Amino acid sequence: MSTQATTGPAPSIDVTGCLICSLDEAPADARVFSDPLWAAEVVPGYEVPGWFFLRARRHAELISGLDDDELHTLAPRAQDLTEAVREATGAEAVYFMSFGESYRHYHALITARGADVLPTSRGGFIVGALADGKDRDAALALVPTVRRAYARLAAAREQRTKTAASA
Ligand SMILES: [Zn+2]
Repeated sequence: MSTQATTGPAPSIDVTGCLICSLDEAPADARVFSDPLWAAEVVPGYEVPGWFFLRARRHAELISGLDDDELHTLAPRAQDLTEAVREATGAEAVYFMSFGESYRHYHALITARGADVLPTSRGGFIVGALADGKDRDAALALVPTVRRAYARLAAAREQRTKTAASA
């Protein structure tokens, strides 16, 4: 008779060394928000002012690895965080990108694109700013403003959801 459990999460994925998983231990001053399914932070190595990672709390690989709860909550988190970054930075555009090449753990890179960014560095070329745009102090200085904007937008969303549910 097998004593192996046949239910519960399968520990089949080696999450050791996963940068995205390690962000659960990120310092509070880098964190915009954290809820049971999603979190957002300024990430070590990507500290360009106005850049944030939105990540699944669970080690789910690529968008195809998200479960139904994660899929249904991704869009509102993406909208609220993108809008919070736009408000906090006053950027002309805020990009939402997901690659999954370096880290398969599902996450999106949100980047503010200011008016000062040359046309040749816009769109996907914004990633080139990583080479010389890093400024940890300036990136962290934006966090409290983004955090407040996100909290307000998320609370307003929750209120709308409650109102709709009780209508
Ligand atoms: Zn992970």
